[in-house]
Amino acid sequence: MNENYLILLGLGNTAKAERKSLVEQIDAVLPQTQCTQCDFDGCKPYAEAIAIGDAEINQCPPGGQDGVDAIAELLGRKPIPLNETHGETKPKRIAVVDEKACIGCTLCIQACPVDAFVGSSKVMTQVIAKECTGCDLCLPVCPVDCIDMIESNPDKRISYNDYFQFHEALYKRQILEKETRDNSRDRYQFHQERLERNKRERDELLKSRMIVLKEKMAKDKAQKEKINAAIQRVKKSKANNEIK
Ligand code: SF4
Ligand code: SF4
Ligand code: SF4
Repeated sequence: MNENYLILLGLGNTAKAERKSLVEQIDAVLPQTQCTQCDFDGCKPYAEAIAIGDAEINQCPPGGQDGVDAIAELLGRKPIPLNETHGETKPKRIAVVDEKACIGCTLCIQACPVDAFVGSSKVMTQVIAKECTGCDLCLPVCPVDCIDMIESNPDKRISYNDYFQFHEALYKRQILEKETRDNSRDRYQFHQERLERNKRERDELLKSRMIVLKEKMAKDKAQKEKINAAIQRVKKSKANNEIK
């Protein structure tokens, strides 16, 4: 009995029963690692692409073959093999920072899609373990290579004593999984909104500075024109006096 597949399918079916949109149903099955290995900016953009037929259902390595099979079942399609050109399925991992080597450059803070780092400029950073999705996006940006990925404790298999006990345990695990995914999804959305807000504020600041600059240039130009006109007047008057 494949517990992981049943949990993933349960997450998708729950979203369907709650009459969530097709994108939300697919997104419920996706792991919310937000790693971009599917070639999209995160799980939601990938779910949107699947829903409109712009992406295959087998591009998510963290979701693995169970994820592909669950999406296929949810959408009433034939299962296909995971496309490993997008990466391999790894056990759940979390990032840890070597505090002695960290130089506090904050590049990892900027790269993390779920704001799992604490720290600030020139201060050693650390990872909030329970918020880390194991996306690996902080690894390539660290200039001193002081971040390692360690395996987090895998869930133990549910023992099968009887049908009701098994399904109750499965249901409990599905609820926990949903809570974890909802949290990562919220943090990712918050992160995206913050990036958009920062960009909007930067654009607005730039725009207002350009307006001030243009006003100053127009003022300088008008001033210059006034001075030139005054010089011309003086020259003309001098020339008239000389003729007389
Ligand atoms: S976990 Fe990574 S590969 Fe899978 S859908 Fe989300 S962003 Fe894409
Ligand atoms: S800490 Fe690193 S591995 Fe963990 S979620 Fe953030 S970027 Fe990904
Ligand atoms: S990228 Fe590396 S050195 Fe820079 S703050 Fe993060 S962990 Fe420290």
